[in-house]
Amino acid sequence: MNLPNEIIKEIIFFLPNEDVFNIYVTNKYINNIFDEFMINNIIYRDHPVTFNVIGNFCMYCNLKLVFLSQKTIFGTCNHL
Ligand SMILES: [Zn+2]
Repeated sequence: MNLPNEIIKEIIFFLPNEDVFNIYVTNKYINNIFDEFMINNIIYRDHPVTFNVIGNFCMYCNLKLVFLSQKTIFGTCNHL
């Protein structure tokens, strides 16, 4: 990896939760980047309400409470 950690953190911040989980599991180098501050950033950031493959509310990707409004964005993931 030639990218500095700060740029990798910025890239991870804009990824959907499913991709963040996949990066966290697969790469040991990036796994060291996830400190407490980074994890809190991911948990409390704005993220679309995610539904899984069969159309149910995804319990893995939706990390915080969801309040539906006119501006709510919906997304999908590949979890079951
Ligand atoms: Zn999911």
